[in-house]
Amino acid sequence: MNFIQNDLVTKLQTNERYPLTDEHPHEECGILGICAPGEDVSRLAYFGLYALQHRGQEAAGIAVSDGQKLDMYKDVGLVSRVFNPSNLADLNGFLGIGHVRYSTFGSSMISNVQPFMIDTRFGTIALGHNGNLVNAGKLRRELMENGIGFSSTSDTEVMTMMLAGADGEDWFEHIRSCMRKWQGAYCLVILTRESIYAVRDPWGFRPLSTGKLPGKGHAVASESGALRTLGCTAIREVQPGEILRLSGEDLTIRQGIPPAEPAALCIFENVYFSRPDSNWDGMNVHQIRQRLGEQLARETRLTADEVIPVPDSSIPAAIGYARASGIPYNDGFIKNRYIGRTFIEPTDSLRKLGVALKFNVINENVEGKRIILIDDSLVRGNTTGALVGLLKEGGAREVHVCITCPPIRHPCFMGVDMGTYEELLAHNMSEEQIRDMIGADSLYYLSLDGLLKAAGRPTGYCTACYTGNYPIDINGALSKTRFEGSRVSNCG
Ligand code: SF4
Repeated sequence: MNFIQNDLVTKLQTNERYPLTDEHPHEECGILGICAPGEDVSRLAYFGLYALQHRGQEAAGIAVSDGQKLDMYKDVGLVSRVFNPSNLADLNGFLGIGHVRYSTFGSSMISNVQPFMIDTRFGTIALGHNGNLVNAGKLRRELMENGIGFSSTSDTEVMTMMLAGADGEDWFEHIRSCMRKWQGAYCLVILTRESIYAVRDPWGFRPLSTGKLPGKGHAVASESGALRTLGCTAIREVQPGEILRLSGEDLTIRQGIPPAEPAALCIFENVYFSRPDSNWDGMNVHQIRQRLGEQLARETRLTADEVIPVPDSSIPAAIGYARASGIPYNDGFIKNRYIGRTFIEPTDSLRKLGVALKFNVINENVEGKRIILIDDSLVRGNTTGALVGLLKEGGAREVHVCITCPPIRHPCFMGVDMGTYEELLAHNMSEEQIRDMIGADSLYYLSLDGLLKAAGRPTGYCTACYTGNYPIDINGALSKTRFEGSRVSNCG
């Protein structure tokens, strides 16, 4: 057993039953762009960002244009904490972009909060980014050698500076010339004085959709669920490599650079990230997750009394598992949905309660039962182990843990915080060791073939965190804080 396993086992044995943050990979970011002639766009953006809050809870920002000048407000915290009637009233305009952030690149420092806004020779622009450039270090170094300074450690500022100095006659050409140099995952919203541009990388790693607003104009957002919150119709996914312009009542769509062949859509959007009411790759996410559960039931063929989900993200898969296996679905946990991000540090005695602060077991539902516990992912093992412990304390006779994706053995360099190789349980331990560590009677993972089958097609997805087969060259990619010594030494 290596030192990592020792550390994890010690945490569980000493009843350090959590941390309060869960063990799922953290969402990347959420972006939004709205062109609504005649409307107060900042309020629309506020509600749109609320619908994207699950993609990033560390910071939020909105930039607007009234056709003459750009204004922006951003800060760390949840959307509801960052914005209030007073600062929204100061954001006047009919064009707006918004961003919610989880720090996949650059730490959570205020200078990294988006959108980024700068004056360029083409006019003032603001930019919001979801994803991660794997060649940002090299690009940043080239810019610095040409005398460009940086105020943050984020790859988004690198993209902003490149756009400010880009070749071409118009914004379509400026963006296209940068897309040829950017390697990695990027969905962008770019606000100029007169228009909004939206961009999706040629691999299609992260989702982006557009729709028609109920009044005049159009919107783009990371997820179609957010567009529906805004009342959009005629929703269409932005295709890999496309550039959109939202201007007045018009929506212009051009192919910026050719789509990569094959595409590399992040399959983890299906498993965990996206809202279940969103569509991803033409399919509803809730339905895909039900199919993940059905497929898992066919692969495991377990005998048990009840199928119980880890709420909320595993509920659709548990419904699917129950349907395919004929084993009844039941609720085993009630989750406190409001405790995820608290600014109050728990006391030591509360901290020892671990996940019990967040989940209560319904003892009457589990007592004496053989339970199949459905979870969508198992990354570091701390939460799953604690949940198994709670079920057993509640009287469950057996707990069989079934995960709706294969073991995560490799980090993500495309904008998802999977941790490092050292932190990934499945990279360091066998399935038997993990089963013993989390205290389950058995542990099953969905096969890669089963995952792709449930997702609807065998190719076109990135599966690198399961297979280690990265769809792009990741040699330039380091940790998310790789720029943070760069003020005294070269980065990347
Ligand atoms: S490595 Fe995993 S999380 Fe990252 S883009 Fe690929 S599938 Fe998504």
